[in-house]
Amino acid sequence: MKNLSPETRLVHADRLLNRPQSGGVHEATNNSVLFEFEDVQGLVDVFQGKKAGHVYSRSSSSSAVSLQNILNDFDKGVGAVVFATGMAAISATFYSLLKAGDHIVVSQFLFGNTRSFMSSLENFGIEVTLVDVTEARNVEDAIKANTKMVFCESIANPVTQVSDLVGIGELCQSKNILFALDNTMTPHTLLDAKKVNASLLLTSLTKYIGGHGNVLGGVVVDTGLYDWAGFSNIDDKYRVTDISQWGLTQIKKRGLRDMGATLAPQSAHQISIGLETLSMRMSRTCANAMALAKYLSTHKGVDNVFYPGLLEHPQHERAKALFNRGYGGILSVELDASIDVHQFLNQLKLIISATHLGDTRTLALPVASTIFYENGAEQRKKMGIRDSLIRISVGIEDIEDILADFDQAFETLIK
Ligand code: PLP
Repeated sequence: MKNLSPETRLVHADRLLNRPQSGGVHEATNNSVLFEFEDVQGLVDVFQGKKAGHVYSRSSSSSAVSLQNILNDFDKGVGAVVFATGMAAISATFYSLLKAGDHIVVSQFLFGNTRSFMSSLENFGIEVTLVDVTEARNVEDAIKANTKMVFCESIANPVTQVSDLVGIGELCQSKNILFALDNTMTPHTLLDAKKVNASLLLTSLTKYIGGHGNVLGGVVVDTGLYDWAGFSNIDDKYRVTDISQWGLTQIKKRGLRDMGATLAPQSAHQISIGLETLSMRMSRTCANAMALAKYLSTHKGVDNVFYPGLLEHPQHERAKALFNRGYGGILSVELDASIDVHQFLNQLKLIISATHLGDTRTLALPVASTIFYENGAEQRKKMGIRDSLIRISVGIEDIEDILADFDQAFETLIK
């Protein structure tokens, strides 16, 4: 079946791509850590990469490979590797591809833990230059002879800056620099990352793809657009016959096998179930987020709303051109100074104060005192995060119920 729409393909992906045994529509969850072969030569051949197979489930298992097949098909890549969390996918990729003495250019607007991880990289002798990625020329100005990689998020969390993805993609392509994109906020249903020339997609599966706040996971997808022949850090051992697999082979060996943040088989199954409804959830989430952003932007209790779907958002036109079916599910607000942020969040009855995003439920949290607390006041200022900022991850509830919850909180607190 070739011409299925992407939505239909997502619903049927497991049975079409993985052909589960016994007519099941889901790949069986395989909990075995070890694998038996007809004879020792079979084991040796898989170890030496002469045959496909699994020898030990920290490195690979049928459950992980089945999910990788689905995620790779979804992003139209040349391969994928799954990890235990989104942070594992990010850290394993950087640690396995970079060396002391390398330089990377990274967005100054990053998810707090990724920003913190950049300091760990610096401790290993990798030079990190942080720039405002809403303009590709800032990236260009920062590039040096030893720049190996550019890294940013599609829509930054929490202030929703939209990166100059087209400009950065063109720049990286012209200089043959690896362009790694954290696509957590805009899975393929919103952004076709190949159109902006991204080389590697790093995505937290815990968020929109899993979608239900019940499973952690991460993935690296190679889009096939980068020419690994120009990447000097690939070890001779991992220069396999198919050049398109050089990067992922090194990530699999050094990042997954050697560092060991492996996705559990049961988690792989749960993520594949989440993926089936991603498109539907994403459409509803985006529609709800747009309606909530409009409501908040005209409310007297609100000073500022950051949402790429609003006309006044600095990168609105770019977001309109880039994203297929909406502007994502994250928005942030600065309340009027007369409203105490903690009191406001405590007053919300339906909306949960929690640190997560991409869930079916609407969630909110005070950003400066929680997820960006460790980053300190100076870094927060550079990222545009004020103390009164609340991040909202919009869910799929009936929008009237979401608006009613905000209404009652404002009514109670605005005297
Ligand atoms: N990237 C982004 C943009 C995120 O928001 C998060 C988590 O919130 C991560 C990566 C890390 O994902 P995980 O929690 O699965 O490690």
